[in-house]
Amino acid sequence: MSRKPSDSSQPPRVVISRRGAQRLREGHVWVYRSDIVADGGATPGALVEVVDERGKALGTALYSSASQIAIRLLSPKGVDDLDKVVRQRIQQAIAYREGLVHDTDAYRVVFSEADFLPGLIVDRYNDIVSFQVLTQGMDSEPARKALVSELSEQLHPAAIAERVDPKIRELEQLPARSSGLVHGDKSTTVFSMNGVQFHYDVMGGQKTGAFLDQRENYAAAAQYARGEGLDVFCYQGGFALHLAKSCAKVTGVDSSRPALEVADRNAELNGREIEWIEANAFDLLRDYAAAGQAYDSVILDPPAFAKSKRDLDTALRGYKELNLRALKMLRPGGVLVTCSCSYHVSQADFLQVIAEAARDVHRSLRVLEVRSQAQDHPILLNVPETAYLKCLIMYVSL
Ligand code: SAH
Repeated sequence: MSRKPSDSSQPPRVVISRRGAQRLREGHVWVYRSDIVADGGATPGALVEVVDERGKALGTALYSSASQIAIRLLSPKGVDDLDKVVRQRIQQAIAYREGLVHDTDAYRVVFSEADFLPGLIVDRYNDIVSFQVLTQGMDSEPARKALVSELSEQLHPAAIAERVDPKIRELEQLPARSSGLVHGDKSTTVFSMNGVQFHYDVMGGQKTGAFLDQRENYAAAAQYARGEGLDVFCYQGGFALHLAKSCAKVTGVDSSRPALEVADRNAELNGREIEWIEANAFDLLRDYAAAGQAYDSVILDPPAFAKSKRDLDTALRGYKELNLRALKMLRPGGVLVTCSCSYHVSQADFLQVIAEAARDVHRSLRVLEVRSQAQDHPILLNVPETAYLKCLIMYVSL
């Protein structure tokens, strides 16, 4: 007969307020610090049992002593073995993508809360897997061990690399750590999306390397683009290289020289001639629009302008200005692909901004497609924070 575990082996019990409990019952997975009634002595990153004020069990979570998001639900049930649950969730994440991800060997393998592994991002670039840890819970030794071992068993990569975001570690009060390989010794590779090839370097680039969330939008943009194309905020050439399939001439603009250097190597890898311009996009669009420059296809994929709700108005003005200038330059029959990756800007806000910009420059737009992030970045219906990318494809009719 198995013995009941002693009290000391039980996970700490965190008591949450009615409001916090309601949030979990509504399907969200976060509980804010202001809704913690008693932390049960939980240590940073601990696996904790979550109960309401009447002692009713609400599930198992990872606790953070630093973040305003004190609780991130791991399971609505009891979990006593973190190793087992991390392994299972990674297997489920891989299985989910098997039926969805096509025409690529680069995709997001684990998308944090949306894959029920809060605080863990895993991306695959052909034979290199890269991961990023965002919370105390995922930074714990058992979680790290389980994830590296499971990823290598399931995907057999040549290498696994950790990409550290020092700012996030500081906010989570985690000790500093450096990026680098944690398994294998390959640090560069070539991956492909929709038949376009890209260089990948473990230590280079932004985020975990490429903007994989745009993969399906690249293919959609290539379907409509034609004539002369302009990719604004082109980074390493994701849209520009896809545009080159259907446009006669393509220009990419970015303020980052290192990004453009990779973009140029990517163009060479694909045997494409693309013009790269290092410039501030706002200045360049203003000057080009004033000079009467015209294009048939324009992509706008700026960085997130609204990092918090407070920035919303400024962000909307930024989006309006960019879109207005792009619309001025688009020839009738042209295509605008315009994106926003600010979670705080809703799809309705974004559509309205584009509508206002069109009105101001007396252009008439038809909505060809209202798109979002690639399906390997799943959106959890009751966790709105998992939906962040908007991508509108517009036809300039007049
Ligand atoms: N479209 C890209 C991703 C763009 S990310 C892709 O699909 O891969 C945003 C890019 O905007 C970054 O490369 C960053 O260097 C660039 N950027 C940020 N501010 C800028 C500015 N003011 N002018 C031009 N580029 C800028």
